[in-house]
Amino acid sequence: MNNGYFGKLLWVNLSDSIIREKKPPEKFYRQYFGGYGLGCKLLYDNMPPKIDALSEDAILGFFPGLLTGTAAPFSGRYMVVGKSPLTDTWGDANSGGTFGPAIKKCGYDGILITGKADSPKYISIVDGETEIRDAKKIWGLDIKEAEEELKKIHGRFIKTAGIGVAGEKLSKMSGIANDGGRIAARSGLGALMGSKNLKMLLLKGKTKIPIYDKKTFNNLVKEYNEGFTDLEGGLINKIISKIPKMPKMMSKVGANSGPASLIKRVYHNYGTPFTNTISALSGDSPVKNWKGVGVEDFPVEKAQKLSTERINKYKIHEYGCYSCPVQCGAILKIPEIGLEETHLPEYETCCSFGTLLLNDDLMSIFKINEMCNRAAIDTISTGATIAFAIECFEEGIINKSDTDGLELNWGNSDAIIELTEKIINREGFGEILADGAEEASKIIGKGSEKYVMASQGSLLPMHDPKVYSTLALSYAYDPTPGRHTTASGEFEDTAPYDKFITNLEYPKKKYKDMESKAQTLYLNTGMHQTYCSVGLCIFARYMGEYPFIELINAYTGWDISVEECIESGIRIQTLRQAFTLREGTILAKNKLPGRSVGDPPQISGPNEGITIDYQKDYSYLCEKLGWNPENGVPLKKTLKNLDLEFVIEDLY
Ligand code: SF4
Repeated sequence: MNNGYFGKLLWVNLSDSIIREKKPPEKFYRQYFGGYGLGCKLLYDNMPPKIDALSEDAILGFFPGLLTGTAAPFSGRYMVVGKSPLTDTWGDANSGGTFGPAIKKCGYDGILITGKADSPKYISIVDGETEIRDAKKIWGLDIKEAEEELKKIHGRFIKTAGIGVAGEKLSKMSGIANDGGRIAARSGLGALMGSKNLKMLLLKGKTKIPIYDKKTFNNLVKEYNEGFTDLEGGLINKIISKIPKMPKMMSKVGANSGPASLIKRVYHNYGTPFTNTISALSGDSPVKNWKGVGVEDFPVEKAQKLSTERINKYKIHEYGCYSCPVQCGAILKIPEIGLEETHLPEYETCCSFGTLLLNDDLMSIFKINEMCNRAAIDTISTGATIAFAIECFEEGIINKSDTDGLELNWGNSDAIIELTEKIINREGFGEILADGAEEASKIIGKGSEKYVMASQGSLLPMHDPKVYSTLALSYAYDPTPGRHTTASGEFEDTAPYDKFITNLEYPKKKYKDMESKAQTLYLNTGMHQTYCSVGLCIFARYMGEYPFIELINAYTGWDISVEECIESGIRIQTLRQAFTLREGTILAKNKLPGRSVGDPPQISGPNEGITIDYQKDYSYLCEKLGWNPENGVPLKKTLKNLDLEFVIEDLY
């Protein structure tokens, strides 16, 4: 049947080497789409509750979004899912590049891996044949080296996703990398893959996607892409190059605000580091392990050393994910440190190893980015864990005898590089830090826990809730805590969904009163979960109106509406929540580190005097979602309305 998806999943059990294809019920697709939506439903149904995240029964899933693999703009994402070894909650992480489409080209809507191999293995799915193969020769190699080795056996046209040394050594900060350095980085899912003794997934296939109404689909894509011309934009570039001198103005309007035509060019020409300098000064970037103030501790002279103009001097060419009309990535050449080809570091990396550590040495950031990509470790978690270690050192909680002789002072870039290397390899002091700051503080003790800037073990990302207050909601309470890419209010409003699709109505004044605020958060939550499960890149929303509903319907033959999208998104979020609750974690009781929410408030800088009451926001949101505000448990009525009755016996 031509309805876009294949109706087929691949299950691989590494304990007994059994490989099976299974058909999920048809209705799963319309209720959960693909990506982590479909992944969550399958893991909820098939994984025993409360097991150790790294046990043999734990399931690791790879799911392309519903539209992934098609020409739909920005639809190239895939999502890795599992129980997070870092937080013990629902875990997911996503990545772009070309690996997601390759899953579709193998004819699958998802690949699920269970069991544990008795020695290192990789799974190859080549032209319809799946094999579990010996990986001893590539175990211990970084992800670029390992892929090169596999190309010698399987040819140049393979696509791979796998773990580096960090995942092999079960670091709870490790991720899964594809395309030589794009990482599904968060939730520590690299450790889950490592625990299965699985080094890589290798894909090659030619299966065609059975689009329902190809003509309409292609016309929608063509019409949309016609808006992406002249991305270089001469005059616009000149204006943007002045932005570092306008931090005050940008802090008022938000770094991502602006007409879609401008945003497209900015992303294409500069990628996410365009915001490095602006965010350092506007209060968006956390500074000095969240206790500093950008304009004082990392002033414009320092912040500009990480500016996009300096980074762009090293650019060889742009590149991007499959079917992306913007292409925000780039390959750089850095002769100063002997890097012939390296990925452009993202904003999150530049901030977590720059502003957060008061490190203005751009070369060190290039180097660390390459090291972390090759080792497939999350740069946010690693940088934030080093920030914790530096503060412990500066406060005298640890000294050189603990740090293998490293002088861990703010901005000491040589020491930061060396410590990153130690964390990746679990060497010396790196062994203590390798599972993140929260685990490290349990070993270090001596009051060090007050310097852990994490939520449920997940190190906080590089956007300050004091600028976008409802980010605190996501950081504290999303089923994958400590994430900036989950739905919240003002952060989503830098690219609101009613500018992305038609027929979505927000309250007239979104944050006028608690009822309007809760309704806004509810709509954002529903839209966001659907959007991610369909496989769109988060930046698509910044690029203007998109034929979202139209593409889904042309692809599947459904007659889906905005209301149904929102309902399905709420279903997905409620099931992610139920997964986390079933594991025994009640995030409603979770508390964020005081510094992140202005408790006590900062006494100077752009965020002076601001304190965020995120607990109150959550109560209102829970009521809107039909969840009990006391504990975040979805009400029975809500579960019935969302066709999630199967959850009731687990939670009641
Ligand atoms: S905007 Fe960037 S991250 Fe998003 S799909 Fe395009 S290239 Fe990938």
